[in-house]
Amino acid sequence: MRGVVVLGATGSIGTTTLEVADELGVPVVGIAARSFSPRLAEIWRNHPDSRCVVTDPAVGEPGVFSDLRTPETGSEAMVDLAAETDCLVVNGVVGSAGLEATLAAVGAGNRLGLANKESLVAGGQLVTDLAGRHGGEIIPVDSEHSAIFQCLLGEPVEAVESLVLTASGGPFRGRTLSDLEDVTPAQALRHPNWSMGERITIDSATLMNKGLEIIEAHHLFSMPYDRIEVIVHPQSIVHSMVRFRDGALKAHLGDTTMHHSVRSAFTHPDRAAGPTFSLPGLSLNFEEPDRENFPALDLAYHVGRSGGTAPAVFNAADEVIVAAFLEERVGFTQIVPMIEKTLERCGSETVSTVEDVMSADEKARAIASEVVLVRARK
Ligand code: NDP
Ligand code: MG
Repeated sequence: MRGVVVLGATGSIGTTTLEVADELGVPVVGIAARSFSPRLAEIWRNHPDSRCVVTDPAVGEPGVFSDLRTPETGSEAMVDLAAETDCLVVNGVVGSAGLEATLAAVGAGNRLGLANKESLVAGGQLVTDLAGRHGGEIIPVDSEHSAIFQCLLGEPVEAVESLVLTASGGPFRGRTLSDLEDVTPAQALRHPNWSMGERITIDSATLMNKGLEIIEAHHLFSMPYDRIEVIVHPQSIVHSMVRFRDGALKAHLGDTTMHHSVRSAFTHPDRAAGPTFSLPGLSLNFEEPDRENFPALDLAYHVGRSGGTAPAVFNAADEVIVAAFLEERVGFTQIVPMIEKTLERCGSETVSTVEDVMSADEKARAIASEVVLVRARK
């Protein structure tokens, strides 16, 4: 492997990936982010031989790059970067904007360290089919899926009963919908265990994140939805589990840092040295998820089973509505009903090509924006 390409280099996953590359001495072949930002310029200064892509040159301050070469610009440049030969591509872009780069990475036969769960939610079968045809290997970076991937190693498919995704329950665990009507973005952004980008943090508060992860797990592990369980585990120490036919339950435990799963995308099937995880003093609790006050979970199962473009709509609507919540244009408890409304209005169509997904995504964004506007006028 020549080195690593880091998509979403300025974000939370991107930062962890650059730290791991540094720790393992892996060259950085390319970096990409959305905007001209001082952080991206700083990363490029640290890796001056790499390619640098800004997908949306209308955002940010080009001036912060004045001492550097001119970055490549546009989404097509990021797709081209993801297809650099013989690289590990870590996709830490947020949102369905990461889908085409995911397809390019696996289409080029690269190893893909996948944090961008939206790629699989929106493009599921397209991504896994393409990876199968071109030898592109997908190593999950999302901590739950990395845990399950590791628990499944060496186990025959027939021995697996179900996958058990753990959920922290987010900052509002134990609260009811009526308690949550007036919560502010600042309250919803206070995740008890993980430090992550804004969108996934809000998704953790609504349990939309777990919903997206159910669909992600379905595609990654070819597992039917009725064999994917969710259990709330407030400490986030057990990253996820696999239940076997003989009643055994295999779990993956670790600190609440993404370093472990990112490192494993670099080293799989080997393991590099890492910090020791200490057990004394830990207590582990598990409880059933509260499906009534956190309806995103059941909605995700429904959307996943519907298939077609429904998961792409589910994700795109969430991206738009979460952005509106962060701008205080909609209330916290309106997020999931608005996603449902968008799903109703969009319907679901079959997916044959990436264009089918992208046009459903675009339509869902337009409709979700209308749903937000109608609500905001009330
Ligand atoms: P952040 O918000 O911290 O970072 C997002 C990154 O994506 C930034 O580099 C941003 O660039 C870039 N980006 C946004 N839009 C585009 C675009 N259109 N084209 C190119 N780059 C873009 O997010 P996170 O790191 O938290 O999450 C990234 C992904 O990883 C998400 O899919 C999330 O669900 C997943 N994930 C994250 C975890 C975590 O611990 N953070 C855990 C598990 C999964 P810019 O800075 O210029 O805006
Ligand atoms: Mg996760």
